[in-house]
Amino acid sequence: MNIILMGLPGAGKGTQGEKIVEKFGIPHISTGDMFRAAIKDETEMGKKAKSYMDQGLLVPDEVVIGIVKERLGKADCEKGFMLDGFPRTMAQAEALDATLAEMERSIDHVINIDVDRGILMDRLTGRRICKNCGATYHVIFNPPSQEGICDKCGGELYQRDDDNEATVATRLDVNIEQSAPILNYYKEKGLLRTIDGHQDIDKVFEDVAEVLRGQAQ
Ligand SMILES: [Zn+2]
Repeated sequence: MNIILMGLPGAGKGTQGEKIVEKFGIPHISTGDMFRAAIKDETEMGKKAKSYMDQGLLVPDEVVIGIVKERLGKADCEKGFMLDGFPRTMAQAEALDATLAEMERSIDHVINIDVDRGILMDRLTGRRICKNCGATYHVIFNPPSQEGICDKCGGELYQRDDDNEATVATRLDVNIEQSAPILNYYKEKGLLRTIDGHQDIDKVFEDVAEVLRGQAQ
């Protein structure tokens, strides 16, 4: 079961990823973890990546894909893997296909947790934090009993700069623009499985599991 997990910030990709790993026992491979491990283990590609990063340069695609290849060649990926945050560009998507073909493998499913942009805005801008004790709330999903006041200590609630409307809108739009061609690429290959991410967490996972079970058994 070789899968790619996709979804915009706030779509619930992290939660679904954890559930997939728990239920299907495949390793969760995120770009960040993969880079940290390759650099720490001083693999050939890890050393190359570090030399770019030390100079403050972007790591080129051929090094990124080299790190992915090293990772997918490890024993824990024999029965499958779940890529998260990769591929991020069309060049990476094409390089991934070529690399998998060399390994006589291929992607089985690209799971996209789909949620409307407006709903994501609500989810991502609703967080409030207590200035006094740091407790977190959400204006829709976990509101304090009195607006703007912490239930635990009576402190004042505030919104972090990262959570404000303009910042969140930019983050979403950049992600939508980056992911659109990749989603389309997998759609044309017949691999895209769009999951309705507006449902509650357990129902979303039921839908994900149905897709994966169809392939696993
Ligand atoms: Zn508080």
